[in-house]
Amino acid sequence: MATLQLNNLHAKVAEEDGEKILDGVDLEVKSGEIHALMGPNGSGKSTTAKVIAGHPAYEVTEGEVLLHLEEGEFGDEIEIDEDDRTWNLLELEPNERAALGIFLGFQYPAEIEGVTMTNFLRTALNAKIEEREELFEEDDEEEAESEDEGYETSPMEGPADDGDIGVSEFQEILREKMEQLEMDEKFAHRYLNAGFSGGEKKQNEVLQAAILEPSIAVLDEIDSGLDIDRLQDVANGINALRDEQGTGILQITHYQRILDYVEPDHVHVMLDGQIAQSGDAELAEKLEDEGYDWVREQVYETA
Ligand code: ADP
Ligand code: MG
Ligand code: MG
Repeated sequence: MATLQLNNLHAKVAEEDGEKILDGVDLEVKSGEIHALMGPNGSGKSTTAKVIAGHPAYEVTEGEVLLHLEEGEFGDEIEIDEDDRTWNLLELEPNERAALGIFLGFQYPAEIEGVTMTNFLRTALNAKIEEREELFEEDDEEEAESEDEGYETSPMEGPADDGDIGVSEFQEILREKMEQLEMDEKFAHRYLNAGFSGGEKKQNEVLQAAILEPSIAVLDEIDSGLDIDRLQDVANGINALRDEQGTGILQITHYQRILDYVEPDHVHVMLDGQIAQSGDAELAEKLEDEGYDWVREQVYETA
């Protein structure tokens, strides 16, 4: 189990006199939970996602982003000591945050020619595994040294590949995940620069999350611009992430539509850089019917 915790998070655009955007965000997402983060355009939803990711365009001026890990979060292979249970994400690089189990959306390295989805995903998975080992290796170094003699007998620790997941092993993982997500096999063979449609990109984002098995996935407007069939495919994929691998989801969306298919346990409304209101799925329905104005009125009445 992992918990992502935002405490009184303040952030501004990272330039001199940059605009203040986040004004004290408090939010807690645990593995296995689905949270919808809603709110009008310009309220700070994407900035919240980007600050969690470590985007250099923003500067955190106050507050914290913490990740709490429980003992067996990464299975048997990585032991999480008591002093490694809480991480201050703001001190870490984006790839380190990802290695700790935060999924931050799909990156398209468009400049790479002739790389298939399969190879790209395998590389991403191996990079994550390697980064994670580095983050936790300090305490384990002595153990590793004393185990040196048995080194070559373990295929996961062979010096040549240093624990890389090989092509055929990865094919198996990919097949299983694509089946889980009910995705067409053709995706795996496509090239990264082959010009995916908007909907295909969103499906690939979910596939990447399935492969990387994050503790918490932040999905920003994954529902935007999808027709109803694609929306359902993407929604099924998100539900599978939660149901099959216990991923916690922070689903950022302007519209209630996707929440008909991905039912949130918690709904939050962001307004002017703060969470102005939280509730359950009924809150999303009320927003659908009545818009955001009543939230604004309530906030300014009590302020
Ligand atoms: P949302 O995702 O809720 O629509 P954003 O987080 O994208 O909102 O933006 C919140 C506000 O901050 C908007 O007014 C936007 O114009 C401003 N903003 C966001 N990023 C930047 C940036 N890099 N430079 C300047 N202004 C920005
Ligand atoms: Mg946005
Ligand atoms: Mg350790």
